[in-house]
Amino acid sequence: PVDRSPEIQEARLKLPILAEEQVIMEAINENPIVVICGETGSGKTTQVPQFLYEAGYTSSNGIIGITEPRRVAAVSMSQRVAKEMNLSHRVVSYQIRYEGNVTDETQIKFMTDGVLLKEVQKDFLLLKYKVIIIDEAHERSMYTDILIGLLSRIVPLREKKGLPLKLIIMSATLRVEDFTENTRLFAVTPPVLQVDARQFPVTVHFNKKTPLDDYSGECFRKVCKIHRMLPSGGILVFLTGQAEVHSLCRRLRKAFPFQKNSTAGDDDDRKESVEEMRKFKKSRRRRKAATLPQINLDNYAVVPVDEGDEDRDAETDDDIAGSDVDLDLGDGDSEEEEKSDSSLPLYVLPLYSLLAPEKQAKVFRPPPPGTRLCVVATNVAETSLTIPGIKYVVDCGKVKKRFYDKITGVSSFRVTWISQASANQRAGRAGRTEPGHCYRLYSSAVFMDFEKFSAPEITKRPVEDLILQMKALNIEKVINFPFPTPPPAEALAAAEELLIALGALKEPPMTGRLKEQQAAKLSCPISPLGRVMATFPVAPRYAKMLALSRQHDCLPYTITIVSAMTVRELFEEFDRPAASEEETVKLKGKKGRLVQMQRIWAGQGSLQKLGDLMVMLGAVGACEYSGCTPKFCEENGLRYKAMLEIRRLRGQLTTAVNSVCTDAGLYVDPKMKPPTEAQATYLRQIVLAGLGDHLARRVQAEELLDDKWKNAYKTALLDDPVFIHPSSVLFKQLPDFVVYQEIVETTKLYMKDRVSWQLPAVE
Ligand code: ADP
Ligand code: MG
Repeated sequence: PVDRSPEIQEARLKLPILAEEQVIMEAINENPIVVICGETGSGKTTQVPQFLYEAGYTSSNGIIGITEPRRVAAVSMSQRVAKEMNLSHRVVSYQIRYEGNVTDETQIKFMTDGVLLKEVQKDFLLLKYKVIIIDEAHERSMYTDILIGLLSRIVPLREKKGLPLKLIIMSATLRVEDFTENTRLFAVTPPVLQVDARQFPVTVHFNKKTPLDDYSGECFRKVCKIHRMLPSGGILVFLTGQAEVHSLCRRLRKAFPFQKNSTAGDDDDRKESVEEMRKFKKSRRRRKAATLPQINLDNYAVVPVDEGDEDRDAETDDDIAGSDVDLDLGDGDSEEEEKSDSSLPLYVLPLYSLLAPEKQAKVFRPPPPGTRLCVVATNVAETSLTIPGIKYVVDCGKVKKRFYDKITGVSSFRVTWISQASANQRAGRAGRTEPGHCYRLYSSAVFMDFEKFSAPEITKRPVEDLILQMKALNIEKVINFPFPTPPPAEALAAAEELLIALGALKEPPMTGRLKEQQAAKLSCPISPLGRVMATFPVAPRYAKMLALSRQHDCLPYTITIVSAMTVRELFEEFDRPAASEEETVKLKGKKGRLVQMQRIWAGQGSLQKLGDLMVMLGAVGACEYSGCTPKFCEENGLRYKAMLEIRRLRGQLTTAVNSVCTDAGLYVDPKMKPPTEAQATYLRQIVLAGLGDHLARRVQAEELLDDKWKNAYKTALLDDPVFIHPSSVLFKQLPDFVVYQEIVETTKLYMKDRVSWQLPAVE
C-alpha cells in the first residue's frame, strides 16, 4: 500500500491517466508488450510506474525500469515519483551516465536509454527487471530505437524461460506505426492504448509576417504584450539555445522587475546582480571622473536593496485585460515595452538542459504571490517536462540541432524550423490546466512548409558507438537487426570501417571477389580489443585510448583527458552579446582571466606538445586541487557543472578500467601531478591511436593559391580549408600538424568544439 499525502492524491486525481488505470493494468497483465499513447502531461511517466508497483509487479524480486532519452527527465521524474509515493530515493532511484542513487532496495529505477543498453551487454535477458518501460518513444532517440529492437527479442526469450518480462512503450503522439506495423519487429501487433487527452482547447495565433532572423526580439515583444494585456496564467517561451534563453530572461527581468521584498528572494541571479550593482555604484563613487561606461540607473533591471521603498501594491493584471480583449495580439513591432515597469512583476526563469538541477527544479514551484511565471526554455520543455500553470505559449518555431555530414562526420549546430508535430506539441503545453493560447511567431504559410515529423535520430548521426555495442552483443549482421527505422547504408559502412581501423572488429580476409569482401566487411565479428572497448561508457575512439593506456602509468591521465573531451562545454562562454556596457566590461575581464589561466594550464616545455589537451588536464588538476568549488570555477572561467561531471566520469571510468584489468589497482587521485616528459610523449601516441584519421597539415606559404587558405590546414577528409580556433593555445604559433577531435562548422570549419583540442603530431 502506498501512503500518499492528500495534496498529492488531489493532484493525481486530475490526471487523465488515472481514469484508465484498470484498462491499462488489464492490458499489461494479458499482453507481454503494450503501447501507451497519451499527450504530454497526461501522467504517463509519473503514474504508470506507480500502477505497476501497486499491482505487485515489484513484490517478487524484480524491479521496474523506466528509460528516458534525456538525463533531465530521468533525474527529475525519479524525484517526483519518490515524492508522490512517499518513498525514499533508496527505493525510487535513478541512474544516468555520470551518477545515480540506485541501492539494493531500489524497486523503481529511472535511467537514460544509454544506461539500459549498457546493462543489456552485461545481462542480455535483463533478469533483474520485471517490467521495462521505454518512455518518450516518439522522440525516436537512437538508443530508444535500439532498445525496442533488442527487447522485441528479449521478451520472447524471457517467456521461454518461464520468467516473463513486460515491455511497455510510451509515446506522446499517436504516431507509433514504425513500432506496431513493423512485423520484423513484433510478429504479433501489440495493443495500443490511448489515454484520453483531457486537453483544454488551445487557440493558435499565427503571425502575419515571419521575422527574418530576430525571432528573439519578436519573442520579447510578444511576452510583453501578453503580460500587459492578458489575464493571469503562466507563459512558456520556446527558444533555441542557452545564450538566447539568458538574454531574453535578462531583457524581461529588466522590463518587469520584481518588487524589492518580493518573496522570490532565493533567486541567485538576482542577488548577484544586486551585488554587482552595489559594487559598481561604489566604484563609481570612488572614481568620479573615471571613464566608466554610462548607464541609466533609473532604467536598471534590479532595484538595489539599499534604495528607498517602492510602491508595493502589485496588481495582478486580471483587471487590466477586459473580458473581450483582443487575444490575437498581432505582430509586434513597437519598442515601447522596453521601459521598465515594476508594477507588473514577472517571475522569469530559464530552462535548458545544461542548467544546474536545483535551478531547473524551480520551474515546478508556484511563482511568488503577485507575480506571473514566465519560463524561457529550449526544446527540453517540449515533451519531457510538464511545467504547471502554463496558459500562454510563445513559439519561435525553431530548434537548434546538430547536423552531421554522412561521409565526413563534420558536424555543425544549425538553427532550423521545427516539424509540424513539434509545433503542435509546443502549442499543447498551453492547454494543460485551462484553455490556452499559443502564439506562433511565423505565418501559417510557413507552418504548412514544415516537415510533418522530425526524422529518427538513428538516420541522422554517425553510428559507430551503436555498432560496437551491437557487435559486443554478438549481433554480427547488423543489417539484419530489427531496427524500427534502419540507419542509412553509408553510415553503417563508415562505422564498420572506423571500427576495423581501430582494431575493434576483426578484419575480413582479403580473398574472394570484391563484392564478397564488401559484404564480409559489413558483418565482421568483434575482436578481443573490441570487447574491452565496448565495456567503457565512451565512444569507440576514446575507448581505444583507454584500452591502450596501461603502459607507463598513463591511465589516470587518459581517463581525465577522455572525461574532459566527452563532457560538453568545459569553459564558460564569454563571447556573448552583453546586455549593458557594464556587462561588456565584466565579460571582457573574465575572458582575459580565462585566457591567462589557459596559458598557465597549458604547461611548459615538453608538455606543450599536448596542446589544448594539456590545458584540459591542467584545468581539471587545478580545479581538483582547490577542492572543485563553485567559487574556484567562477573565478577561473570553468563551468562548475562540467567539472563535476568530469569528476564523476573519472570515477566511473576508473571503475570500468579496474574491472577489465583487475591488476591495475587504479584510484582517482584528485591531486594529479602533471605528466612527465615520457608520459606526455606516450599520451600523444595514445591519442593519435584513437584519432589517427583526424590529422591535419598546415598549408605552407609557398602552396598558397587562394587567400582562403591563409593559416589554414588540409585534411584527408575535406576539400575545404579547416582552421585552428583563436581560443586554442596553439593559435599563437600554428604547428605544422595537428590531430583534432572533430571538425565543427561555425563561421568557418574549425578543428574544435567546446570540448576539442589539437596537438602537434610530429615535430
Ligand atoms: P506525461 O509523462 O504523460 O507527459 P507526467 O507524468 O510527466 O506526464 O506529468 C504528470 C503531471 O505531473 C503533470 O501535470 C506535471 O506538471 C506534474 N509533475 C511532473 N513532475 C513534477 C514535479 N517535479 N513537480 C510538480 N509537478 C510535477
Ligand atoms: Mg512523460
